[in-house]
Amino acid sequence: MLPYHSLPEAQAALGRNLTFAETLWFNYSATKSDYFLYCHNILFLFLIFSVVPLPMIFLEVKRFGGLDKYKIQPKVRLSFLEMFRCYKEVMRLFFLVVGPLQLVSYPAVKMIGVRTGLPLPSGWEIFAQLVVYFLIEDFTNYWFHRLLHGKWGYEKIHRVHHEYSAPIGFAAPYAHWAEILILGIPSFLGPAMIPGHMITLWLWIALRQIEAIDTHSGYDIPWSPTKYIPFYAGAEHHDYHHYVGGQSQSNFASVFTYCDYIYGTDKGYRYRKNMIRKLKETKNGVEQNGREDEKYE
Ligand SMILES: [Zn+2]
Ligand SMILES: [Zn+2]
Repeated sequence: MLPYHSLPEAQAALGRNLTFAETLWFNYSATKSDYFLYCHNILFLFLIFSVVPLPMIFLEVKRFGGLDKYKIQPKVRLSFLEMFRCYKEVMRLFFLVVGPLQLVSYPAVKMIGVRTGLPLPSGWEIFAQLVVYFLIEDFTNYWFHRLLHGKWGYEKIHRVHHEYSAPIGFAAPYAHWAEILILGIPSFLGPAMIPGHMITLWLWIALRQIEAIDTHSGYDIPWSPTKYIPFYAGAEHHDYHHYVGGQSQSNFASVFTYCDYIYGTDKGYRYRKNMIRKLKETKNGVEQNGREDEKYE
């Protein structure tokens, strides 16, 4: 809740006119509690889990010719009912684990100093913080995920996430409840180390989920805007991790490729990629835009 009762009061406190974005924020948030603003994350997560995977799910069902060739594992096809079962399971997790986790984590969010007031951060400040959050998430998630591939961690917890050897967008948060708690830590670390505005936190939670849905989509679209993000792992990188399954010692990172490169856990993936590229070149001549989906066949 903002400590001003009117726009002139807010302007007087800031010593300047409010920007357009600040006026919008004032009008929206002035009478709402910080807790209520934080709980918006629950609505955003519900919408993101429900809506963002839909285009690729639709593609999986309809198999449009022009895009179907980008399916990474074309031999594995899930029916609509199988995908809906995954969605129902994710929604169950959402109501029993993710939502309550958001509700009870508010004191921690308050303690680290996430603010809701004015002035709003600049676009560059938000961007810089989000980049740092992604870097911290990626590094920490790499090691937590790698530990979950130990014998005990895999059999007791992480095995559930690997039920989908050819993932779909809905399967991004499909996991044991303990994994959701464990891998919530890397997501929380960035905002805890560099606390920002509530709007930055909303964006962070939303973008992290959208990124996870993208890497589990099962499609590697060559003209996706994410191809312009340096070191972005994307669907193909993580799909290989699911393809190899429980024995996987490859491609642990959640966002970028460099951790797997530095720690040598992408050797099998790169070797296989190179081998298949060479085979294709031998077979068909140099094929710059060959079907990525043939790499696992
Ligand atoms: Zn794994
Ligand atoms: Zn996964």
